[in-house]
Amino acid sequence: MSVCPCGMAHDYGECCQPFHTFAKLPESAEQLMRSRFSSFYLKNVDYIIATTAPAQQNLLDKPTLQAWADTMNWTHLTVISHNKVGKRHAQVHFRAYFDNDGQQGVHDERSAFVKVGERWYFLDPTLPTNLTGKQPCLCGSGDKFKTCCGRFLG
Ligand SMILES: [Zn+2]
Ligand SMILES: [Zn+2]
Repeated sequence: MSVCPCGMAHDYGECCQPFHTFAKLPESAEQLMRSRFSSFYLKNVDYIIATTAPAQQNLLDKPTLQAWADTMNWTHLTVISHNKVGKRHAQVHFRAYFDNDGQQGVHDERSAFVKVGERWYFLDPTLPTNLTGKQPCLCGSGDKFKTCCGRFLG
């Protein structure tokens, strides 16, 4: 592969590959989002799991995720907007296009991300959380869940 699937028009080896091998960390939520798209494109589910919020990772079922990834033929990605939200969150609005045997479609999504230490993680809104608003947030920030990642989950 030469051109990276993430839409940046860079060589894969100098774009998302160093993220996929953990040689480098994405510096922004948008970069993480793009690297997750190219990882889905390559059907590399391990990277998808590793870049989901640590407290959510054990809720992901790898065989299910892999089976879904294997059915999807992604074509390209467009990032519509990228907004920082407060100290440690960001939202990325994107459109991910696919073509499954001639059946074309697009996933239009606003995803939320949290920065924990030096790393950005995806907050998966489809996973159950049993936290109540006043409990410490799952991201480990020490803030209450409802004023931290709870704004983007559930
Ligand atoms: Zn890339
Ligand atoms: Zn949080």
